[in-house]
Amino acid sequence: MKTQLFAAEQVKEAAALIKKGGLVVFPTETVYGLGASAFNPGACARIFSAKGRPSDNPLIVHVAREDQLAEVAGPLSPQAKALKEAFWPGPLSLIVPKNPQLPEIVTAGLATVAVRWPSNPLAQAFLNECGVAVAAPSANVSGAPSPTNFEMAKSAMLGRVDGILMGEECEEGLESTIVGFPDGQAKILRPGSITADQIALVLGCDPASLIYLAPNEGRPVSPGLKYTHYKPNAEVRLFRSAEDWAGLSLEGHKVGVLLVGSSVPTPPDWDVARFEDWKAYGKALYSSFFEFDRIGCTLILAQLPEAGGIGTAIANRLGKAAGH
Ligand code: AMP
Ligand code: MG
Repeated sequence: MKTQLFAAEQVKEAAALIKKGGLVVFPTETVYGLGASAFNPGACARIFSAKGRPSDNPLIVHVAREDQLAEVAGPLSPQAKALKEAFWPGPLSLIVPKNPQLPEIVTAGLATVAVRWPSNPLAQAFLNECGVAVAAPSANVSGAPSPTNFEMAKSAMLGRVDGILMGEECEEGLESTIVGFPDGQAKILRPGSITADQIALVLGCDPASLIYLAPNEGRPVSPGLKYTHYKPNAEVRLFRSAEDWAGLSLEGHKVGVLLVGSSVPTPPDWDVARFEDWKAYGKALYSSFFEFDRIGCTLILAQLPEAGGIGTAIANRLGKAAGH
């Protein structure tokens, strides 16, 4: 398939492809999304095949206007409304009742829909031009890290989609926080850069009450939670301090290391991605994986943050990347 590349000024042309039932990759503040009209079931089916995504893993729908929201979602609960007011536009997806008119394929048959209103200005301009809500999972092949810059989006999706809209590097670099309300209680189904403390403050609840423990039986509340995710080609191992390297057999490996601060020294033959703080580390996590893969690293050593704040989201992605 021929993939058209669009500069930021060509939002109209990119949106025209969506209106015709095409697939377009576009930037958001979290990661690049792989979009199709949420009201075109055939186009949404193509999202699943372009990604190799299992059909039981529902899509997040992106909106940039109240009328787009009303087309995909039923009435919001007071808690959902409060979170919408506090964090939209922004990197938070809310699981809310589905509008019956929204095609089943988008929600993989669930009665709820995941919705997000992105803050990235180019994403907003694109969604406005589309005039319709856009279903868009991350623009990676299933299981791989999400693209957080144009180069990565192109590398993942060239030949698989109709168009790619070129934006800046994603400001957050990690997928949205997902909040759902199983049994009417707010729960964080996927941690992201909007933290449990921030959400608890808005809802007036204890942050610990937001922790979601998936039941062992039955259909998972968030089907995507059960799949492998975020894996680069290189093997990923996690560490907290340089002592954790001591027992590792590095024989024959080209090593890339991701770490925060200047206190941990690294051997001269390793490729090093060193960040000032965990926010910067999270933002560059996937692009560092991409870069290490590109230069042929076979082993990535990634520093593991303490849980809490952005550390919870980073530890969640790293755990999956390392296959835990
Ligand atoms: P992605 O867009 O690739 O980052 O993945 C979307 C995530 O949202 C997956 O983990 C899905 O399981 C989750 N999701 C989407 N729709 C729903 C829903 N209606 N209820 C719960 N989780 C959902
Ligand atoms: Mg994804």
